[in-house]
Amino acid sequence: MISHDFFMMGRRKKSKPGRRPVLLFWLTVVVLAIPNIALCVTEQMTLAANVTNVLLPVSVVWLLMTLSRRPGKITLLLSPLLFIAAFQLVLLYLFGHSIIAVDMFLNIVTTNPGEAFELLNNLLPAIAIVVVLYIPILVMAIISLRRKDLLPSEFVGRQRRMALIAVAVGVASLGVTYAVDREYRAKIQLYPVNVGYNLVLAVERTKATADYFKTSSAFRFNAKPTHPDNAREVYVLVIGETARACSFGLYGYGRETTPLLERNRNVVTFTNVFTQSNTTHKSVPMLMSAASAQDHHRIYREKGIITAFKEAGFHTVFISNQLPNHSFIDFFGKEADEWVFIKEKATEKDNVADSDMLPMVKSVLDKGRNKELIVLHTYGSHFNYRERYPASDAVFKPDDASEAKFSNRASLVNAYDNSIRSTDRFLHDVITLLDRTEVMSAMLYTSDHGENIFDDGRRLFLHASPAPSIYELYVPFIIWTSDTYRRNYAQEANALLINRHKSVTNSESAFHTMLGLAGIETPVRNDSLSVASRKFRPSDRMYLDDHDEPVPVNKILRDKQDFVLMRKIEAGK
Ligand SMILES: [Zn+2]
Repeated sequence: MISHDFFMMGRRKKSKPGRRPVLLFWLTVVVLAIPNIALCVTEQMTLAANVTNVLLPVSVVWLLMTLSRRPGKITLLLSPLLFIAAFQLVLLYLFGHSIIAVDMFLNIVTTNPGEAFELLNNLLPAIAIVVVLYIPILVMAIISLRRKDLLPSEFVGRQRRMALIAVAVGVASLGVTYAVDREYRAKIQLYPVNVGYNLVLAVERTKATADYFKTSSAFRFNAKPTHPDNAREVYVLVIGETARACSFGLYGYGRETTPLLERNRNVVTFTNVFTQSNTTHKSVPMLMSAASAQDHHRIYREKGIITAFKEAGFHTVFISNQLPNHSFIDFFGKEADEWVFIKEKATEKDNVADSDMLPMVKSVLDKGRNKELIVLHTYGSHFNYRERYPASDAVFKPDDASEAKFSNRASLVNAYDNSIRSTDRFLHDVITLLDRTEVMSAMLYTSDHGENIFDDGRRLFLHASPAPSIYELYVPFIIWTSDTYRRNYAQEANALLINRHKSVTNSESAFHTMLGLAGIETPVRNDSLSVASRKFRPSDRMYLDDHDEPVPVNKILRDKQDFVLMRKIEAGK
């Protein structure tokens, strides 16, 4: 309709010379206002914040449009805002809430495949809206500029006066909002100021990451071994991918997804464990270092757990079944004496099985070194689930409908459960390899985050959305110890049993627990965070938000369904 009217007006140019630029003037104002109006509905803000968030930005755009008699020029100058508005509307369509996050900007500039954009199939309607709303305006602006369309000067003068009054009212409204809403901060809540702020943070974070080797070069753990030099010991940290505790038989799930681990009496299952991030590239670095949501900035100054073990005399190996992505996962992994990203060499990159890492683990163990640390980064249960296991291993069927649709839920759950069985087998095989060495050894397995599989009325799917659900945060955390280990270090083994039902955060505890199990002392080690210590104390449950700040988990969870499940987990049901 818009373009039809536009061309009609083109033909009537002589009779009504001012109408076409006036239309462009108003269309730009209206179209740029759409995200502000939509965010009033999707974001849980106070009335004052909502009024300000529409009044102030809209009146500023209105005023900007009066800065020239050529509306095409101003509209084109505002085109970055048009792109941001389009991006914002697509996100609202996709997630139902939240502004463009720092992480989303980072996903655009890095080679990180961008977990937030895995739902591309579902984006078509949103992209259609954007094309219909925003592309015609840009086309109109270009045509208008070429035709040298001018707004009538009396129109511009009148609109400028009215817009100035509106801006003044908007500023007053902002003042009122700050006065009545104590939590309001324009850089967090006022669109598009908040998107601009996130863009600045993304640039700062990119720079801090690029400078990491400089800012961390002098760092030392000053780690020392306390276990005897001549005793052979092997420790394995297995980092899972997209494994949610509530789909594990070990955690009371109604299906036999973990039959092998359940039969192993030397496995201690921690029943009440949350993670601090629902994205791989933020969660895994916290598992591999002392940084957590509470003190995340230290990640730019310190090194990872592999260096702590190295300083204490361990040989270290990092094997990953994920692609390197220039994040801290790579930085910390490459601290190892030997490291490999097995997927990099594969031709069909999506289907490399975690079990392909087992022969490498075996050959490391066959070397018979006295002190060994192996860190395995798996691909676990990452979507597309049915590619995570061979079709012949499928126990739960049908598992072939893999399109991200609610109507496929049964099939998706079957495939997901099969992938957990595959992880069960993988962990069992790692344990078997360790067991065969008959030395002191321990394996800690946890997952970076969980997953949504259309679990309730919210119909959430996958992970990494700006606001996590409890299905993304409740993760498995298990520790296996060898007989020889328990004979020699009964205190640590007993502590595991004492702590297994306590509230644990894997992002905080994986690092300190590994050091505790291996008897590595460093001023960085904190036994109140180690579940292998009787000094363990549950800390406040926090989440690492998009601005890398800690937020209490019960503030980041949004819905009733989350709190119902949280109470069940805490009650041990
Ligand atoms: Zn992940």
